[in-house]
Amino acid sequence: MIRLAVISGKGGTGKTMITAALAQLLPGKLVLADCDVDAANLELLLNPKLLRTEPFMGMKTAVIDPALCTQCGECMEHCRFGAIEHDGELYRVNPLRCEGCAVCVHVCPVATTMQPRQTGEINYSQTDRGHLVHARLVPGAGNSGLLVHAVKKMTMEQDKDCDLFLIDGPPGTGCPLISTISGVDAVLIVTEPSVSGLHDLKRVVAVCRQFRPHIFVAINRFDLEQSLTDTIQTWCREENIPVVGMIPFDPAVIEAVRNGRAVTFTNTSPAAQAIQILAAKLEQELTNLGTQR
Ligand code: SF4
Ligand code: SF4
Repeated sequence: MIRLAVISGKGGTGKTMITAALAQLLPGKLVLADCDVDAANLELLLNPKLLRTEPFMGMKTAVIDPALCTQCGECMEHCRFGAIEHDGELYRVNPLRCEGCAVCVHVCPVATTMQPRQTGEINYSQTDRGHLVHARLVPGAGNSGLLVHAVKKMTMEQDKDCDLFLIDGPPGTGCPLISTISGVDAVLIVTEPSVSGLHDLKRVVAVCRQFRPHIFVAINRFDLEQSLTDTIQTWCREENIPVVGMIPFDPAVIEAVRNGRAVTFTNTSPAAQAIQILAAKLEQELTNLGTQR
C-alpha cells in the first residue's frame, strides 16, 4: 500500500478539493482518511454513507469528587492553568481549561482523580471510491495530533489490502501535520501564487524533509499571479521538488464545491482537465515509488 498525504502550508489553497478529485481519478483499491480533524470537510465532496462511529478519548483530565472534597481550596491555588473553579458551592474542574498536568492529584490524592474524557468521535463511512475514516473534535478540545494518529490507525487496521491510502491532511506545520506525515510514502503540497503561499510552502517542505517522504507540489490558481508562480517553480527546481500540477483559476471549482462534488466529477472545465493531468503524473510517480520498494 502506498500512503499519500495531500497537505498545504495554509488553509484555503484547494487541498480538499484536489484530494476529492484524486480520489475519483487515481486507480486501484483506495481508502481515504480526513486528517484535517479541526475542519474535516472531505465528506462534503464525497457524500459518504456512515457505517459506524467510535468515541475518541483524549488525554485524561482532573475530576473532583464532591463527596470527598473538604473545600480547602488548595487545588485551585496550585492549578496554574486556572482550570479549577468554585461556583459558590463546590470546587469543580473546567475540562476545557484542564491541561492534564495532575498537579491537583498530587496536592489532593483523596478527592481528585485523573479520568479519560471523550473529546471527539471517529466515523467509518463508505464512499463510491472506498472507505473513508473521518473525525470530529469536540469544540474547544485539544489533542488534534492524537486524533489524527487514531484516524490513521483505524484506517490502516480496517483496510490493509488497499493499493492506495489517500489522506486529506491539515494545513500548517503543527502537531496534526507531523502526525499526518509520519510514516507516509509521499506528500503532495498544494500551494498558490502569493507571498504567504511561497513562505508557507518553504516551511512545510522543511518539516516534511525531517520525515523523508517523497515531496511533490501542485500550484493551484497558478494564473492569478504568474510572476509568483514562476518564483515558486524556480524554487522547487532548485530544491529538486517536482511540480506535478498547475491548476488554473476556474469558477467551475466553486460551482462544484457548492454542489458537493469534486470538480472532476461532472465536467471538463479547465481546472478539471488540469487535475486530470496532475493525477496522471502522480499515478506515474507513485507507480515508480511502488516498484522501487
Ligand atoms: S479537591 Fe481537595 S484540594 Fe481541592 S478543595 Fe477539595 S479537598 Fe481541597
Ligand atoms: S490536572 Fe493540572 S490543569 Fe487540570 S485541574 Fe489539575 S492542576 Fe489544573
